Amino acid sequence: MLIDPDCIFCKIVANEIPSIRVTEDENTIAFMDINPAADGHVLVIPRQHAANIFEISREDLSATAITAGKVANAVQSAFEPDGVSIIQANGKGAAQSVFHFHFHIIPRWIGDGLKVNWGPEPGDMSRIEQSAKRIRRAFETGN
Ligand code: 5GP
Ligand code: ZN
Repeated sequence: MLIDPDCIFCKIVANEIPSIRVTEDENTIAFMDINPAADGHVLVIPRQHAANIFEISREDLSATAITAGKVANAVQSAFEPDGVSIIQANGKGAAQSVFHFHFHIIPRWIGDGLKVNWGPEPGDMSRIEQSAKRIRRAFETGN
């Protein structure tokens, strides 16, 4: 099993630092975020270290996504919020601060003003088409 000795979430997996867990299984752990964006904010991680979406194995990604789905259901029943946001950051530009893959499960309330909604504005269609071309090319070249 991959462990990064400097990683705070690896220390949580190893019980070297405490966490308030809500569920766990062979491959994943769900625990409360200590700086919650809302009551009921849970983090879901793979036990095995991977920094981000680019490094995580398909198996761990699947297992972590399945646990995230179960936690979202539990949060929905427990808090009956107006919605649930699932957020997953990769890299400093995406405001990732802990470099061990994780999903945030956050209960949401109408008008809560959390800074995760960007207020969609119509895009330039030729620019959207160009972006799609770049992404399709990346698929074609196996990246
Ligand atoms: P990111 O900014 O990488 O998307 O999210 C990292 C999250 O981990 C933050 O919301 C932060 O509050 C949480 N966090 C950081 N250190 C700890 C810790 O030691 N314990 C727990 N439970 N959460 C942590
Ligand atoms: Zn780690």
